[in-house]
Amino acid sequence: MLDKGFSSPGVAEPKLVLATDLDGTFLGGPVEARAALYDWLRAQGPQVRLIYVTGRDPAFIADLAASGDVPPPEFVIGDVGTTIGRFTGGRVEPDARLEAPIRRAWAGKAERVRTRLAGVRGLWPQPTPFRHRLSYQYDDRFQPEALRALEGLEVDILISHGCFVDILPPGISKGPSLLRLLTELKLPRERVLVAGDTLNDLSMFETGLRGAVVGGAEVALLKATHAIPTAYHCTRPGAGGILEAIVAHGLCADLPEVSV
Ligand SMILES: [Mg+2]
Repeated sequence: MLDKGFSSPGVAEPKLVLATDLDGTFLGGPVEARAALYDWLRAQGPQVRLIYVTGRDPAFIADLAASGDVPPPEFVIGDVGTTIGRFTGGRVEPDARLEAPIRRAWAGKAERVRTRLAGVRGLWPQPTPFRHRLSYQYDDRFQPEALRALEGLEVDILISHGCFVDILPPGISKGPSLLRLLTELKLPRERVLVAGDTLNDLSMFETGLRGAVVGGAEVALLKATHAIPTAYHCTRPGAGGILEAIVAHGLCADLPEVSV
């Protein structure tokens, strides 16, 4: 549990809390930009608190961190907001207390969703373990109206990237789970930057936290965040966009120069 083990290396008043999506965002952009961001983060030590906020599952995150290619996170919001935990000992350790409302909201839903969506044309489950969600992929045979089969089930449906469907517990997504974690950790919201590139990141930008909609983002996300003043639209893709937004929001001044 976070409250017992909160002797984390991070400081309570960090200069930056980076809460970032992975695919297309933290892992996106040219290699030079990624290297610049990752090297800068590694040099900051506990002054920067790093939180992955991703659709990926805990095993993917553990493998990614083990590769050594990226700075490991301190905390993880995984599975599109339905996993909340600390990253420790090379693995994601879900926090049972923070996840309690998620677990309650998902109880008994998985089998019903599976049953109702079985046989929908052009829709199949993603090859990943599921905890408190189900995620599917679709192709051009899929008709969104088929999701009416879920009516009355009290689940949230998130379609993103033109090929993914996430079925989530009601009211649970990246943004609300991130806010719960920030509150738990007593981190200052004015030091937080959220970053993302597709519609499953929208709930992070809707929190009112400072945001980086990175270059190359899904058009639907650009439109949905157009009128959110804290959601900065970056020119640069991926990691370079994160660096750009840190400067644009005036969060840190000692960043490396990148031109890509
Ligand atoms: Mg992404």
